[in-house]
Amino acid sequence: MGKIIDVVNAERPTRYLQDGSMGPQDESLAFRAQFPPAANKYGWLQREVLFPQRTAPVNPNKSEVTDWAALTEHIKEYAKSLGADDVGIADMNEDFTFTDRDPLPHTRVIAFAMNMKYDSMADIGQASQTEVHRVYFKMLDVSVQLARYIGGFGYQATGHPNQGEYAHVPFAYLAGLGELGKHGSLISPTLGSSIRLGLVSTDMPLVVDGPKDYGIDDMCTRCTVCTRFCPADAISPEKKVIKGVERFYVDTAACRPLFQHLWGCKICLMVCPFNGRGVFKEQYRVVAKDIAVAKEKHGYLKILAKRTPGADTNKILSEYL
Ligand code: SF4
Ligand code: SF4
Repeated sequence: MGKIIDVVNAERPTRYLQDGSMGPQDESLAFRAQFPPAANKYGWLQREVLFPQRTAPVNPNKSEVTDWAALTEHIKEYAKSLGADDVGIADMNEDFTFTDRDPLPHTRVIAFAMNMKYDSMADIGQASQTEVHRVYFKMLDVSVQLARYIGGFGYQATGHPNQGEYAHVPFAYLAGLGELGKHGSLISPTLGSSIRLGLVSTDMPLVVDGPKDYGIDDMCTRCTVCTRFCPADAISPEKKVIKGVERFYVDTAACRPLFQHLWGCKICLMVCPFNGRGVFKEQYRVVAKDIAVAKEKHGYLKILAKRTPGADTNKILSEYL
């Protein structure tokens, strides 16, 4: 079996860039200029409407709680009623606070996962940009509502979008939602790879789930699909020690040009066989056939070029491969 990742020596993460952008300003602007109007709408709602509300008001009349296990289940069910597809609880670990922010006086992190529509994402075109931003918006919406609900019990709570205090993948792992895949994202044993993650931190002493071994690390050690199909050769086949933690590693500087010219790319997430075991197993069959025909990254980009008019994969084939 695999193992639980040792985070004892973890060092605090830096953002991709300190201002939260995806690269130099001109590249970032060019990337954003590709966004369809619906993606821009969701981005505006996140920045201007939801982000300012992410820290909830706290009811001065604190609820008396006698059964923390029952309240923990209630909070998880409430998060699911808001739209979360899976929910777990992690102990606070300040080592996963971004270096440009200070930790909050919180003791627990509620992590949740939401599915992205697999067929939209697998197109790797403008529809995938809209879907990513729809889910980012929905995650922050759920975070704000969940934080307010916890505030009603008389406890502090803050929602964390990508620009928040805490790194999403480590806390989702520590909450037992899944394991870190070789492609650098969390893989859920029930939802697969086509997911996004949200966090709410709180001083409410919820019952912690903790990290779990689902056998995903073992599978990634044997599997080569994402390394073969990444157009940027950015996915390391071996684990490395990164900021004090031995783990799978993606070279984000190598990924970035493809990411920005291919509508956020995400080929690595879509080809991952764990999608074939999760809720999208029927839709994954189409991609599995593409993988069998394409065999490697060049062939896969040619298939994408035919499937998604406007995705300039021929340009990418000539410029990057
Ligand atoms: S494609 Fe294979 S190696 Fe890559 S993350 Fe998925 S299971 Fe792991
Ligand atoms: S997003 Fe694309 S370029 Fe980046 S690691 Fe995944 S497959 Fe490679």
